[in-house]
Amino acid sequence: MAIGEFSERSGLSRRRLRSYAAAGLLVPVAVDSGSGYRYYAADQLGRARAIDALRRAGIPLADVAEVLRDPSSGLLGRWSDRVAAEAKTRQEALLLARRLLGVDTETDRTGDREGREGKEPMMHLQPYGRSETGPVREGNQDAWVGTGRLVAVADGMGASPGGDTAASLALAIVDAAFAGGSSQELAAAARAANRAVFERASSSKRLEGMGTTLCAAGLTEDGHLAFANVGDSRAYLVKGGIATCVTDDHSVTAEMVRRGELTEVEAVGHPHRRVLTRAVGIGPAADVDVFVEPADVGDRVVLCTDGLFNEVPIEAMVSAMERAGEAPGIADDLVGQAVAHGGHDNVTVVVAEVCT
Ligand code: MN
Repeated sequence: MAIGEFSERSGLSRRRLRSYAAAGLLVPVAVDSGSGYRYYAADQLGRARAIDALRRAGIPLADVAEVLRDPSSGLLGRWSDRVAAEAKTRQEALLLARRLLGVDTETDRTGDREGREGKEPMMHLQPYGRSETGPVREGNQDAWVGTGRLVAVADGMGASPGGDTAASLALAIVDAAFAGGSSQELAAAARAANRAVFERASSSKRLEGMGTTLCAAGLTEDGHLAFANVGDSRAYLVKGGIATCVTDDHSVTAEMVRRGELTEVEAVGHPHRRVLTRAVGIGPAADVDVFVEPADVGDRVVLCTDGLFNEVPIEAMVSAMERAGEAPGIADDLVGQAVAHGGHDNVTVVVAEVCT
């Protein structure tokens, strides 16, 4: 059956199905080479639901693969013990917090329910970013920005000083133009960044041909996370402990994978994997992808440049993003893994927690 029907019958979004396919957990039985349409067999429904249940239980991708290989390995029992222990620890901490704050348990719970009628009014982002040149490249043309309402990464291209100029200019414009209004405002900010970079490139011989990727996530006043993307930097959203890639890469190989002309595995070593099909600043108008997700306290946004996912295997990346812990530890870990795998490109990771 086509991916649409399979998505409906399994209850899993197409995006989620694509991410399971990318991780090698649930590979479509056929891909139409003309339309890129993916086809699944009816007997894959059970496996799809099982994978999703394991993910909703908070089990990382690497362990899901292990459980599917050998369901009776005892891994499920160990996870069950761990979930019970974590729930107990958190309940005890909550009780202690209530006692310390002098909050009566019953009134506190009623207040909680009333408070959830509207969206959390005081949510903000707590960002931490890390950017490394790596041992191979001469300079760093990646850049990032992080505030209480916006995080963004940019991977500049063009001979120095073009690449750095394009990346930092795009980020400055997005930061200035997005005030936390709406996803449309974020898309408009990305288009404004495109115009600014294009005009600057057109007015200077030294900067001619410069451009940049741009991947931004902003908190909007109605309690959503808006994502805007041009190029092949990526945004992941970790919700309920599960990381999902929100954006589509605008590269030659990623488009070929979406059309079914190349498998995810073939794309990894493909010579054209760094050739972009869209970028900020190379034309008067940019085509900006926009995605919107509800924001909840505890959500984690992870932005990265291609220097991360071209080096680190997807399973290791996703496991690091889903780990409990603070943003700095996670960003440092991911950047450290990219450098340890060779660090052939500049690598930038921004991790932001949604907080009250
Ligand atoms: Mn790069």
